[in-house]
Amino acid sequence: MIHGDDRGMVLPPEVAPIQVVIVPVAAEKEPELVMSRVSEVAQQLRGLELRVQVDDRDGIKPGAKFYQHEMRGVPLRIEIGPRDAAQNTLVRAWRFTGEKVHLSMDALETLPDRLSEMQRAMLKKSSANLDERTISVHSKEEFIEHLNRQDGFISARWCGSPACEKAIKEETSATTRNMPEHTHEGNKCIWCGNQALKTVLFSKAY
Ligand SMILES: [Zn+2]
Repeated sequence: MIHGDDRGMVLPPEVAPIQVVIVPVAAEKEPELVMSRVSEVAQQLRGLELRVQVDDRDGIKPGAKFYQHEMRGVPLRIEIGPRDAAQNTLVRAWRFTGEKVHLSMDALETLPDRLSEMQRAMLKKSSANLDERTISVHSKEEFIEHLNRQDGFISARWCGSPACEKAIKEETSATTRNMPEHTHEGNKCIWCGNQALKTVLFSKAY
């Protein structure tokens, strides 16, 4: 949910149900050549264990298809037109960066690696974003103060008790969101003062 922009979702490759969508473009000219190249590419990418969809729906313009797949967050789009089919090339467009380039067919083999790179880049961006929006607090007063001041996340040591969670929610409308891998110091629950078992991210529920 962290990823997304004005055009819709941006799915990380590892969780995307469709990782690559192949869209034939301007297929009215030499459609057979284009369509045979499209199935060839689909087959090759499936052979590389990628989740591939061919969007060969009739009566929908390529631009409208691009828009739909962008909205659904498909990480990678491949476009193949008559010129590409004749020249053994294709167009590759990344959802995450918006980068769009012409590639030779040989470059298909590198796509699984490029998808992994994209996965890492997205994780890096979301971690940086989370760090930027997270503040560590060490007392109940600080907790309440930061909650009122900003809408990010608050990292705090916490006891883990459902009663304590309920009390926090009732008094501040903050709920537990996530347990980060990194923890910080502190033996006592920020809220009730009992023994702290974990570091938890809180944020306000709306
Ligand atoms: Zn507690």
